Amino acid sequence: MDCSGCNRCTQMNCSIDTKCQQLDRKLMDRYGAVSFPIYQTATFAHPGLGESTGYDYTRVQNPTRQQLESIVGYLENGKDAIAFSSGMAAIATLMELFQIGDHFIIDSDLYGGSVRLFNEISRKNGLTYTAANLSKDDVRPLIQENTRMIYLETPTNPMMNVTDISELSKIARDHGILLVVDNTFLSPYFQNPLDLGADIVVHSGTKFLGGHHDTVGGFLVVKDQALDEKLRFIYKTTGAVLSPFDSFLILRGIRTLAVRLERAQENALKLARYLKRQKHVTKVIYPGLEEHPGYEIMKKQARGFGAMLTFEVDSEGFARSILNHVELIYFAESLGGTETLITYPITQTHADVPADVLERNGINARTLRLSVGIEGIGDLISEFNRVFAIAEKENS
Ligand SMILES: *Cc1c(COP(=O)(O)O)cnc(C)c1O
Repeated sequence: MDCSGCNRCTQMNCSIDTKCQQLDRKLMDRYGAVSFPIYQTATFAHPGLGESTGYDYTRVQNPTRQQLESIVGYLENGKDAIAFSSGMAAIATLMELFQIGDHFIIDSDLYGGSVRLFNEISRKNGLTYTAANLSKDDVRPLIQENTRMIYLETPTNPMMNVTDISELSKIARDHGILLVVDNTFLSPYFQNPLDLGADIVVHSGTKFLGGHHDTVGGFLVVKDQALDEKLRFIYKTTGAVLSPFDSFLILRGIRTLAVRLERAQENALKLARYLKRQKHVTKVIYPGLEEHPGYEIMKKQARGFGAMLTFEVDSEGFARSILNHVELIYFAESLGGTETLITYPITQTHADVPADVLERNGINARTLRLSVGIEGIGDLISEFNRVFAIAEKENS
């Protein structure tokens, strides 16, 4: 891997596991703290008139946040990463790039909060969009004169559709359209959309980057200087910045990103194979299964398959019984932490997605989503054996 952007040591081309431990020595504090300090300050004193330490005010820049931005930018091979108070704040700021009358194209299977933002806020601000299944529909006929952006996730949430980022980036480039990829599901550990031709990467830092279900944050990562300057201007002007303390938590999370994701992915594949063998499970969608339609593209464009999987059971009652009886697994919204979470998309993450869109995407009352954690796999399987036995009794 390219080591430009890190001045930790003189070694070149270290692995991403090591990159997660990067500490920019320029920013190291005067005591040589190995854990980067929390600069819990709103403002910074000037040494004299016309002089600056490089920091003026925390809405604009803060050393702890800058350290985090530096490492996220570095992991995504970006020119800059901007840290926001949430993933949604990052996406809302991104949308400020556009003007009344602009049009954009989205994947029809997206995080529900993003769909809500596009429907309730972007539309009110005079933007229009077209939704399509970007993993299989041809995007070219959807491009209009005023189309400014294509926005997608891959794999998608929750249906795990996989889109070929390089292919799409060629079309976007030909038409002068921004390609934006929400890379939350795989994290920079497994996938780097900027290397595949994307212009902007979005992250909910709440998820795998933070990794412990203890903080909320978000990122935009860019490689183009002019675009970066525009976004930085909107950022300091609108102010949805990440606090120093939350920056510290995500910095700490990133240190173990590699080991957490390796373990969670290993568990996810084992669980996917286990679930496929269960009587009441009618469908298992995990891109690491060879029969998944996106398997080959994933092998080409990512370094792994992630820890998110979706499955379907044979009745709504069975799904509800599972949710009512999990113990070791939490029935909770969100993803990407060390604990396994089970989510019910129709009442949680996708509650605001219109019914016809849900149906078209194949999301129904029998669909369940798992964010697989790093527990012992035997314990996760015992948990499912127990819960499936109860669900079978309740629904016979
Ligand atoms: C959670 C999530 C978001 C929103 O991030 P927040 O940190 O919750 O605001 C955006 N995209 C995806 C894929 C997510 O999972």
